[in-house]
Amino acid sequence: MTKYLRTTSSRYPNLTALYSIGKSVQGRDLWVMVVSASPYEHMIGKPDVKYVANMHGNEAVGRELMLHLIQYLVNSYSTDPYIKWLLDNTRIHLLPSMNPDGFEVSREGQCDGGQGRYNARGFDLNRNFPDYFKQAGDRNNKRGQPETDAVKEWTSKIQFVLSGGLHGGALVASYPFDNTPNSRMCRSTPLCSVFQNYASTPSLTPDDDVFKHLALTYSTNHPVMSRGVACKAGTPAFNRGITNGAEWYPLTGGMQDFNYVWYGCMEVTLELSCCKFPPASELPKFWEENRVSLVKFLAEAHRGVHGFVMDENGNPVEKAALKVKGRDVGFQTTKYGEFWRILLPGVYKLEVYAEGYLPREVDLMVVEQHPTLLNVTLHPAKTLDTTGLGLASTDTILEGSAFPPHTFIYVPTAPLRSSVPPSPLFLADTVLFPSK
Ligand SMILES: [Zn+2]
Repeated sequence: MTKYLRTTSSRYPNLTALYSIGKSVQGRDLWVMVVSASPYEHMIGKPDVKYVANMHGNEAVGRELMLHLIQYLVNSYSTDPYIKWLLDNTRIHLLPSMNPDGFEVSREGQCDGGQGRYNARGFDLNRNFPDYFKQAGDRNNKRGQPETDAVKEWTSKIQFVLSGGLHGGALVASYPFDNTPNSRMCRSTPLCSVFQNYASTPSLTPDDDVFKHLALTYSTNHPVMSRGVACKAGTPAFNRGITNGAEWYPLTGGMQDFNYVWYGCMEVTLELSCCKFPPASELPKFWEENRVSLVKFLAEAHRGVHGFVMDENGNPVEKAALKVKGRDVGFQTTKYGEFWRILLPGVYKLEVYAEGYLPREVDLMVVEQHPTLLNVTLHPAKTLDTTGLGLASTDTILEGSAFPPHTFIYVPTAPLRSSVPPSPLFLADTVLFPSK
């Protein structure tokens, strides 16, 4: 794989750039290939997006699909106007293997099981991220692993608007939250949390409409996933090929919740094959099934609102905190003052806060046909001093408003369901060899 990535990046220097975000426990590079008309530099005002595959080392399909996707994008740039537009307006970062050590010990043809799932120290990387619902004290009881730390640092450096985590072992697009607030309630007794885990309660985000749309964009463009048929007897069937993560089964320390809560990045978990590591001969079929979905999903980064936050002189305001009113998940501007938010058509209010400036609330409309460009000018808070109204203290005005992007106020959006006893088959499968 490393050889393929190196060869491709030298063959297509104008469309690709290869970089490593760190190393695995056993010292393998975590390669990321950027595919874009501007592979080496962020395009100001244009979104960065990503796919992360193979975080479970034995789920091999996503890894292979990433290599196909790279090839497809570079080949189509000169012949397909849609791909040209996408690469001219987006930087696509692809991490084909987040767990190369696990991949090394997994076996082709092994459809189930956990061999190769974990990193070289036996950690499940999709349980190893900070978790909003289970913070401090017992933070997953897990040490951060090099692979997880590398991804965390990567996502802190680049503001990704949209992301997909590629998995195998099921066929579904699963959207946040994966964890649920009631996992907090009974962490004291192990038995309690075991049962709580199978309550299958939906745990919906304030952006549930957007997440459903993103998940459906993937599933409805996938000829098999869209049918929502169970992989085998005893496994769930998903209506239209999508599910809320926690409604399927809750988990703590997952990557998608982390992306969304910490960085406002919309990440969906894409389960792409019933068999985790199918024979190599079946791989071309998977590519054909996923090709359209993989491209159309990323293009969704161009839906909604984007723009710049500037001061009165037109200088960018970095780290301004933004929030769509009624959707209590914050996000921040980049050093160029840019922001993005994927939204469905409708009328919204954007709240903007930045230290030293007066908070603002801006009305905006999102339409289906194209993203809304919105530039917001902030005025210094100190100008109030001159009014003589006694509102001299900027601290007072700003207190409590300049929240960090991860500050998140959870509002339950679905009634809690009574817990249904799980079928023994599902229980066993989930405990031993989960997919996501
Ligand atoms: Zn997985």
